[in-house]
Amino acid sequence: MLLKVENLQAEIEEKQILKGLNLEVKPGEVHAIMGPNGAGKSTLASVLAGREDYEVTGGEVEFDGEDLLDLDPEERARKGLFLAFQYPVEIPGVSNKLFMQTAVNAMREERGLAALDMFDFDEYAKEKIELLDMRADLLERSVNVGFSGGEKKRNDIFQMALLEPKLCIMDETDSGLDIDALRQVANGVNALRSDERSFIVVTHYQRLLDYIKPDHVHVLYDGRIIKSGGFELALELEENGYDEIVQQYKNA
Ligand code: ADP
Ligand code: MG
Ligand code: MG
Repeated sequence: MLLKVENLQAEIEEKQILKGLNLEVKPGEVHAIMGPNGAGKSTLASVLAGREDYEVTGGEVEFDGEDLLDLDPEERARKGLFLAFQYPVEIPGVSNKLFMQTAVNAMREERGLAALDMFDFDEYAKEKIELLDMRADLLERSVNVGFSGGEKKRNDIFQMALLEPKLCIMDETDSGLDIDALRQVANGVNALRSDERSFIVVTHYQRLLDYIKPDHVHVLYDGRIIKSGGFELALELEENGYDEIVQQYKNA
């Protein structure tokens, strides 16, 4: 098991949001998490990434054989956890390339690999750009400064490719994604899928899942996963919404 979340409970500003959440992710699996607004999806992503405004009040999380909750966010990232899409930081005056070279070398050090100098990093970045069939334009700009929504997504996928994480957590915000950005994200995920790399894709967009085809789909409601299934569950949700599943859960 790559990730094992057991009875996870968490609060923000003394309000309990996660109320005993269980989730297991094996290497190579793609899990989609869906659910109504306010259910706790972003909270789950944030708690796994170690964002400090969330307080874990119960439960356990094991990641690649280690106690994830013991690690600070940087350690989690170095050990192969990647959180995409939430609040990309703008860093004026620092080139995206230098920023990514630094991040890649921190990851390599953790894995016992030699650091890449500028020349080697250029080669490495080029391979990833080709893998993703992307343009290289974003590398020369300041980190996220003036990036459009679509460029931020593209850059996030590129970072993901460079860092070669074991687990990618992607939290789609509620804001609209145009079809090009949606495809960009889906193509990126599909290009980076492998037997060793897992994904947790939090999304409101059924259409994204049409392109990604997750192995497992979960419905998160009121801080718990109340239903799990295969891709057909996403289709059912598209058809009927959450009401029926929520009613079944409440009646049980
Ligand atoms: P989702 O991503 O499923 O829409 P969230 O995890 O963002 O849900 O939010 C879950 C609950 O936590 C919501 O009721 C939301 O209002 C509350 N919440 C989120 N962030 C904060 C915050 N910074 N302060 C207080 N409450 C918050
Ligand atoms: Mg929300
Ligand atoms: Mg959210």
